[in-house]
Amino acid sequence: RPRLYAPALAGSPAALRRLLSALAVLEQKDGKLNVGSLNAVTAAQKLGGSIHAFVAGSNIKGVAEEAAKVEGVEKIIAVENGAYDKGLPETFAPLLVENIKKGGYTHVIAGHTAFGKNLLPRVAALLDTQQISDITEIKDEKTFVRPFYAGNAIATVESADEIKVITIRGTAFAAAPVAGGSAAIEDGVDPKVESPTEWVSEDLAKSDRPDLATAAKVVSGGRGLKSKEDFDRIMLPLADSLGAAVGASRAAVDSGYADNSLQVGQTGKVVAPQLYMAVGISGAIQHLAGMKDSKVIAAINKDADAPIFQVADVGLVGDLFEKVPELTEKLSKA
Ligand code: FAD
Repeated sequence: RPRLYAPALAGSPAALRRLLSALAVLEQKDGKLNVGSLNAVTAAQKLGGSIHAFVAGSNIKGVAEEAAKVEGVEKIIAVENGAYDKGLPETFAPLLVENIKKGGYTHVIAGHTAFGKNLLPRVAALLDTQQISDITEIKDEKTFVRPFYAGNAIATVESADEIKVITIRGTAFAAAPVAGGSAAIEDGVDPKVESPTEWVSEDLAKSDRPDLATAAKVVSGGRGLKSKEDFDRIMLPLADSLGAAVGASRAAVDSGYADNSLQVGQTGKVVAPQLYMAVGISGAIQHLAGMKDSKVIAAINKDADAPIFQVADVGLVGDLFEKVPELTEKLSKA
């Protein structure tokens, strides 16, 4: 296994880079690669060493072939076994650990998604290593930047662990494009660990609108919408006129105006679309933590002193019940 801290390497970055090897853990669903999870490859590319990618589940061949097209990935490690389809961490973590040990990787990288957050801390524990969570920047092979206190403070952390187990913030690393590559595909090891945990069912919110986490445009509604009926009446046509995903503040979710899955913020989703429009949202720090990296922020609020205007690029002070339908009509005609 490559040793990252061999004394002979001191002062020789090129030699060091040759010994770096990262494993990007990719996500799949129903035999389809989740291309969003290719941001782990982008993060691995920043390290400068060799890159392998890991996939597991049933019908994994198609997923592996898709991932093999990503430029810069040398090898896809694939494990064909339907027991890994749902990414249950109780079985996926020992699976991953076996493959990390076999490959002798110095870095293991996954998205800071429900899958990655569930999996990598267990992997880190099994490897007796410290988990490094939700990073937004890679300074060098042992130094990483991560926000904390809901993004109000930024820490630069250094890890002396031999294997760095890292989750990355999706909005900070773009997904690597599926083009230009021709990685080899290799069967991974499968320890077939038995687990008392069993997948029972899932209840997914269905929507024809773009996915909130990856949409280029997001319109979010807050407590100012006053009721679920008004939230739907005002926000949904606005979203459709822009081709945008719908988000919400926690106050709107807690008041029952919008589904839980739409919450943006510290305890909801973190988004960074091209356009984020906040309607009747005051701009509490916990909400800003989930959207302040958006490229253009537009806000509509009747209170000119609302904190949302401090982060907004474009602001409209007025009654949303009047302004939003007017805007929707103009956008629909445009
Ligand atoms: P309010 O703060 O009540 O603001 C409503 C706004 O609507 C006001 O600015 C008002 O001027 C405006 N308004 C009212 N009527 C109109 C009208 N007719 N026309 C135009 N404007 C109007 N919040 C999140 O959003 N996401 C999180 O993930 C999150 N996590 C949290 C975690 C913790 C630990 C804690 C303590 C809090 C968290 N919060 C989160 C809650 C957060 O602190 C705020 O309470 C919440 O964001 C407020 O939501 P809001 O802006 O919709 O409501």
